[in-house]
Amino acid sequence: MLARALKIARMGYWRCDERDSGTLWISPELALMYRLPTEEGRVTFEAVRRGYLDDAPAELARNLVRCWTDGQPYVVRGRFRGENDAILDYAVHGEAERDEYGRVVQVSGIVRDVTDETAALARLAQSEQRLADFVSTASDWCWETDEQHRFRETRIDSSEGTVVRELRVVGMRRWDLPVVPQDRERMEQHRRDVEAHQSFRDFVYTVRFADGVGRTVRSSGKPVFDPSGSFVGYRGTATDISTLRETQALLDQRTDALREAQRMGKIGTWSYRLGEPRVLWAPEVFALVGLDRETFDTTHENVLARFLDDSGERLIAAQKRVMRTGGTESLDVRVMRADGRAADFAITCKAEMCDGAVAGVIGTMQDITERKETQRQLEELAYSDPLTGLANRALFKRQLASVLDACFRQGTASSLMLIDLDRFKEVNDSLGHAAGDELLTRVAIRLRDALGPQAFIARLGGDEFAVIPQRGDAGQDMLELGETIVEALTGPIDLANGEAFVGATVGVANLPEDGSTVDDAMRNADLALYMAKEAGRGRAMVFAPAYAQAVEQRLDLGRHLRHAVDAGTLHAHYQAQVELATNKVVGFESLLRWNHPERGPISPAEFIPVAESSGLIVDLGLWVLRESCRQARSWLDQGYPTRTVSVNVSPAQFWNMDFETAVSAVLAETGLPPNLLCLELTESLFLDHSEHRLNRTLSALVGLGVRLALDDFGSGYSSLGYLTRLPFDRLKVDRSFVEGVATRPEKRKLLGGIIALSRGLGLTVVAEGAERQSEVRVLAELGCDLVQGFVFARPVAPEAAPLVASAIERQVVAAPAPLPAAPVRQASPPLAPLEPDDGLQADADYGAAPIGV
Ligand code: C2E
Ligand code: CA
Ligand code: CA
Repeated sequence: MLARALKIARMGYWRCDERDSGTLWISPELALMYRLPTEEGRVTFEAVRRGYLDDAPAELARNLVRCWTDGQPYVVRGRFRGENDAILDYAVHGEAERDEYGRVVQVSGIVRDVTDETAALARLAQSEQRLADFVSTASDWCWETDEQHRFRETRIDSSEGTVVRELRVVGMRRWDLPVVPQDRERMEQHRRDVEAHQSFRDFVYTVRFADGVGRTVRSSGKPVFDPSGSFVGYRGTATDISTLRETQALLDQRTDALREAQRMGKIGTWSYRLGEPRVLWAPEVFALVGLDRETFDTTHENVLARFLDDSGERLIAAQKRVMRTGGTESLDVRVMRADGRAADFAITCKAEMCDGAVAGVIGTMQDITERKETQRQLEELAYSDPLTGLANRALFKRQLASVLDACFRQGTASSLMLIDLDRFKEVNDSLGHAAGDELLTRVAIRLRDALGPQAFIARLGGDEFAVIPQRGDAGQDMLELGETIVEALTGPIDLANGEAFVGATVGVANLPEDGSTVDDAMRNADLALYMAKEAGRGRAMVFAPAYAQAVEQRLDLGRHLRHAVDAGTLHAHYQAQVELATNKVVGFESLLRWNHPERGPISPAEFIPVAESSGLIVDLGLWVLRESCRQARSWLDQGYPTRTVSVNVSPAQFWNMDFETAVSAVLAETGLPPNLLCLELTESLFLDHSEHRLNRTLSALVGLGVRLALDDFGSGYSSLGYLTRLPFDRLKVDRSFVEGVATRPEKRKLLGGIIALSRGLGLTVVAEGAERQSEVRVLAELGCDLVQGFVFARPVAPEAAPLVASAIERQVVAAPAPLPAAPVRQASPPLAPLEPDDGLQADADYGAAPIGV
């Protein structure tokens, strides 16, 4: 009976009587469970344990030993390899038996096959876990209430960390919870529903704890009735939707913020779907454009009509591109607002995709009118000359480009004028920069007054101005306009600290014929300006194609001239100066000669201006000075009569270096007595500088013992005033006064006046360029001291000069003359070289005017 019971329960009995025997007794049921064949039921522990898996054998041995030692009962669960390798779960129980003295005398127990039981338990645990997992991942929990609506402990409790736990709601009713005031009324209604035993779904309420943290719960439940139909409570689920709520609130807030940002950033969104007749405008876009949502129909046609200039075309092109490429594009457009004002918008557009195909275009539109306006103002700042408020060079070039563009597109004509102030540098140097600035401002005002409000006037930098006269005065003569400018800027200009005398030179290029690009136009106007300066400043000149060549030639000349001294192609020639009273050659004028390697002899009238404008004259002039002094000294040393040497000095030499020091150094170096050096200065020297400074330098030169001659008198300003104040020794009357003096009484009168006046001032008068005997005769009659002209000799090489001089003196002596001075040679035709039979090397005859002015 017992045995059967044991078998059904899948149980066996075991007993161990002796602690160290290593054997035990097992019941036949257990022998079966262990699959150990035994007759008397005795087996070794080793054989028993062999059937167990994992660490069960060791566990069994340890527990058995402990039971023998201190009588501790035990249960060991272990996996056992049963029939057909089936894995079984066995639970081994062991218990000690003690004698009357309390000593352990026997250990016995049962072994239970718990395989089925374990599996069932595992299954249950698994399903419970599954439910718990499900509930917890759904962030829900289950709840139950009793018939009094009080929360009960629920079996599946996944309410960890939720409101349920936090409130320890067990025993409370839902309406006992600390709901927020705004939910109280709804909670009352809920209570009435629940008391009426109605099911409810998604009842949402918020509770707020003492620490102010709120939780929002969404709950659903239904009443439960027992089989007899009496109400036992509610069962349901709930969710903590606080985070969801927060997220929703945040999203709402973000949407509001975005709205606000769009409003403040003046952004609106728009879109359209392919094939739809209308564009979809967000309310903001209507607001931005100032149109009414009710009345404005956003058809493509209506929308496009709002775009100004080429904005609409560009927008369509951009949209086509994004639809083709799937990319994004932005562009700035101008749109006509409802009130008729133009507004600037930045538009972005992006293709809208649907299932991999382009479905339409979406985009934003931002009002950037203010930004554009600021940008325009900034540009204006960047494009204007802060001093005069005129356009600056950058803006000027832009304007010129657009004028040229119009010339080609519309066939219009225009012109470009470059203006250079004369003597600005001197004002700046003598009166200071503040005065210079003031002067420029005044010039700007005068230009504006002279040219009218429509003319485009710019200051290109320094004292350079440019003008593009108002378009449409095509008939106007640009040369005349240029002269108007010169006139407007010539004369005294009142400044805070005195008066400035400036003048202007203007170069004109007619557009588009004198320049089809900005650079060409600028270059040609500049060439015209250059030519005007060369022609003597204070004038306007219009560009002519020949200028380009002429200027190129000059540049080329400049390049060659630089090497001329070193190359030995520059020489000084000497022209005799004859004293009429004694018929003696009392001096020579030193005149530069240049034999250009390709072009042959070139007139100083051509290359001296080049040397002057390139600054080369400073070195060149010093070279001539030294060379001439050396030559004069050498003639002295060779025993020739004492004669002066006259050297021409350019203004640049005079101002650009410590001139008197250079002169005294040359004198010391060459050993020429200072009184044998005469420096020839022209009236242009007085132009650019203060008389004070001029006087100082001249006095210093006089102090050295050097003589000073005023050259070319009568050709320029002819101010006798200078002569009374400045320490000149000599006056050289220009050839233009001498020429024709024998035949024209009025010339003779004029020359007579000049000579008389000069002599009255104690000056020695030298007449230049006498070519005829008749002229010499008249000059003698008028009381002229010296004559320098082809009638006596041309400039000759240094080795020939003393011979020429003695020939002149000899022949003068040889020929009895009625008048104090009568040159031997019969006047040859003007400019004709000396005849070869006199054996002297005569100067080459230099050709026509230097450049094609
Ligand atoms: P300038 O100082 O007035 O020199 C006198 C010019 O008149 C010389 O021309 C001379 O050859 C020319 N001449 C003399 N007698 C007659 C005449 O009877 N008939 C004609 N038609 N001409 C006569 P050149 O040598 O061609 O020099 C031209 C100018 O070049 C000079 O005018 C002077 O201003 C400048 N120049 C020459 N050498 C130098 C130099 O070393 N330094 C500087 N700074 N200028 C120089
Ligand atoms: Ca001279
Ligand atoms: Ca002269």
